[in-house]
Amino acid sequence: MTADIATRIVIIGAGQAGATAAMELRRRGFAGSIVLVGDETHAPYERPPLSKDALLHPESARLQLWPQDKYAEQDIELKLGARATRIDADAKTVALSNGETFAFDKLLLATGAQPRRLPELDALGDSVHVLRTIEDASRIRAQLWPGKRALLVGAGVIGLELASSLTELGLQIEVIDPAPRAMLRNSPEILGNFLQRTHEARGVKFHFGTSVRDAKNDDGKILLALENGTHLEGDVLVYGIGVITDGALAESAGLRTLHGAIVIDEHCRTSHADIHAAGDAVLQLRDDGRHHRVETWENANQQAVIAACDMLGLEAPLNPVPWFWTDQCGLNVQFSGDMAAPNWIVRGDVSQAPFLLWGLDDDGHIVAAITVNQGKDMRPAKDLIGKRAKLPAEVLTDPTGNLRNLAKKDAQTA
Ligand code: FAD
Ligand code: NAP
Repeated sequence: MTADIATRIVIIGAGQAGATAAMELRRRGFAGSIVLVGDETHAPYERPPLSKDALLHPESARLQLWPQDKYAEQDIELKLGARATRIDADAKTVALSNGETFAFDKLLLATGAQPRRLPELDALGDSVHVLRTIEDASRIRAQLWPGKRALLVGAGVIGLELASSLTELGLQIEVIDPAPRAMLRNSPEILGNFLQRTHEARGVKFHFGTSVRDAKNDDGKILLALENGTHLEGDVLVYGIGVITDGALAESAGLRTLHGAIVIDEHCRTSHADIHAAGDAVLQLRDDGRHHRVETWENANQQAVIAACDMLGLEAPLNPVPWFWTDQCGLNVQFSGDMAAPNWIVRGDVSQAPFLLWGLDDDGHIVAAITVNQGKDMRPAKDLIGKRAKLPAEVLTDPTGNLRNLAKKDAQTA
């Protein structure tokens, strides 16, 4: 550790990134004071179960990142239900909504993101929802009964995970998205089409290439008129159309922001020497020279570790191959690498899980992989992506070959 070690680190945002950073600071031997400020009233929890177990098995769903007493045990001061409202970067203080002010030596911003809202849908009353928090999930859960009709606006990860959970709970589902197919933003067409077919086989109806033109609440029934002339009726509506970030707090500190997101470098440093940022709230400079926002659980954890190390003057682990997952329709789908890869080939049979998809660049290097109910192959696949390996197509597509051996071998690398 460096000699000029900070004596108080304040973390704003007690979510995935904020809580992980607090624990990492202690794990790395930081002995000063840590204050973790969160505007939610719950101890830090994980969001991935909110669209899955929290709806399907609310009584047994495990959400908390760590048991509540772990924070006291680690001497982390947890300030819940308190919103940071202003940062004075020169005085190095943070003002909270409860009237308290904290001085800091180092500050981490881990304020996450919020669902993008559609006021015309919000105006329809309490059978319209977004999903980001425990409270959102509880409100949605309370309105789910077998036989009810759910309208899902957005066929991204939230829309598809909800389609899966709500079908399992016995609801009839219709999904609306202006995009031509499912999960357009973060998966290739071959996988989007496979997921669509899988949901359709369970009774889900998709309306792609159109959006909501008019929405009404008619005595408790949600009535939607779509741009393509279709009329839909539902009992409950949930929309997941992406997230936005609120840059006001960072801007109060004079930090560089872009479209409301905090701009950071590869060490999670902001434009202020003593302020770092991590998670959904940031745009990070990557190897390709562009700024990226990565809205995943793994990214929040990794950036938290990088920021914690950097604040302590320690070398941080480098960004490995990005990875995320989704659970839908009894399928575990894992993604790594560049989902915009121009070419995709299949190992196995794309009409039936398990299978693996390889993403190749124009020169045939492996730059991405997706496993469907085949998670055991993700680690060797990531190794091959990390090496930008180039292997004959017949080797990559042979489902009988052992991927671990392949990853160990000297593949031709870029
Ligand atoms: P958050 O977890 O949002 O935490 C930020 C916290 O900061 C929040 O509690 C917020 O209220 C608080 N905050 C904001 N501003 C202030 C302020 N001024 N003062 C104090 N507190 C503040 N990712 C996957 O990889 N796989 C999945 O299967 C998956 N499933 C998901 C399912 C759902 C329903 C959702 C919503 C997300 C899912 N994700 C998944 C994404 C993943 O959960 C997020 O990428 C991750 O939570 C980001 O962590 P974060 O700490 O940056 O933000
Ligand atoms: P998302 O994955 O970005 O998908 C949003 C979808 O909504 C896109 O298909 C988008 O289409 C569509 N859309 C945009 N405007 C619309 C409109 N007016 N009407 C209908 N559809 C519209 O975002 P999300 O599903 O809302 O998820 C929110 C956040 O939760 C993200 O940060 C996500 O990463 C996270 N999350 C992650 C997981 C996971 O990783 N497994 C699971 C759940 C949630 P266009 O692309 O054409 O705009």
